Amino acid sequence: MKTLNDFNFENKKALIRVDFNVPLDSDFKVTDNTRIKSAKPSIIKILEDGGSCILMSHLGRPEGNEDKFSLKHIVDTVEDILGVEVHFASDCVGEAASNAANKLQPGQILLLENLRFHKEEKAGDEAFAKELASLGDIYVNDAFGTAHRSHASTSVIAQFFPDNKCFGYLLEQEIKNIEKVMQTGERPICAILGGAKVSSKITIIDNILDKIDHLIIGGGMTFTFVKALGGKIGNSLVEDDKLELAKEILEKAKAKNVEVHLPVDAVIADAFSNDAHTNTCEVDNIPDGWMGLDVGPNTEELFAQVVLKSKTILWNGPLGVFEMPNFAKGTIALGYAIADATENGAFSLVGGGDSVAAVKQFGFEEKVSYVSTGGGAMLESLEGKTLPGIAAILKN
Ligand code: AMP
Repeated sequence: MKTLNDFNFENKKALIRVDFNVPLDSDFKVTDNTRIKSAKPSIIKILEDGGSCILMSHLGRPEGNEDKFSLKHIVDTVEDILGVEVHFASDCVGEAASNAANKLQPGQILLLENLRFHKEEKAGDEAFAKELASLGDIYVNDAFGTAHRSHASTSVIAQFFPDNKCFGYLLEQEIKNIEKVMQTGERPICAILGGAKVSSKITIIDNILDKIDHLIIGGGMTFTFVKALGGKIGNSLVEDDKLELAKEILEKAKAKNVEVHLPVDAVIADAFSNDAHTNTCEVDNIPDGWMGLDVGPNTEELFAQVVLKSKTILWNGPLGVFEMPNFAKGTIALGYAIADATENGAFSLVGGGDSVAAVKQFGFEEKVSYVSTGGGAMLESLEGKTLPGIAAILKN
């Protein structure tokens, strides 16, 4: 696996696929700069070697050339974070790009306009990828957030750099941290899966059952399992067409000696609202007209015990409707337990969508071992898929 440290970038132009798909407010100000900060170590290494950086990224989902999705809006933020002047090319291919790239001197940075202003990017067009490739000497992929896409700049382009392609530090770190859970994790290994639906997590469950010792299930998908086991779930979220599947998962887990931990109690509400009346009851005895929106206090304790005895912890998906303060307690309690376990020496990885949002919102970001930067890419890695962006770098 070739990484940045395998190259000296002196007098070389590094063409780096970064993930600068950052959220902007109505004044085009960046509201969360995590992704830009994450790319900084790779960029600095290249500049310190005496090389230059050509940064390429997408932003949002433009239909053609839409000004509101222009990467020019983020130039100031990128400059502030990197502490280096950032030149901007008004297109990612054509004369604007090649002129700017040709002029680039060691120590300088060029940001190309949004790749998705050209439909060829998402189509994985080879000629477009070749034109992009002509801008740089070494191709670096540091965009984990798009590594599951087979786009021109994320995977197709790599073929034009047979000997001069590598992972950036961020992508390298993401790969290694997933390996730490999926391949080399110290046991006992515990996976916590929450979120809304079992149907969106089934491939992950299938893939990880061979690798873990404990499976904690929370969130909305709890009730499909509880109903499958004959419990009363009131009006809780349920996927009736997945009841058999839920039973099969439990049987498979048993056969593989994985201990499954389902909630024992729930915080229930008489409406899907933070202002609803609430109560607590056993998870399999929810009255009609009420729905489970969070795990209850006994479950918090039970889950914390499992987490605290684990040496490797993977967390994907909140335990309740954490966006509403009245149903966030279970998710917060789990965050504390994972933080404690991490302090005691466990390795904890949080990844995939809403659990990352919860970890950030409740301030656990610094207290877990690693928070993944890629939603879909993380989920597909957990499903056991080889990501095209990673495969393209590994291919000889
Ligand atoms: P996912 O994208 O599948 O990880 O689901 C995340 C969503 O699941 C969040 O928006 C939560 O509000 C939601 N969620 C968690 N627990 C429940 C629950 N008990 N009932 C309904 N939705 C839930």
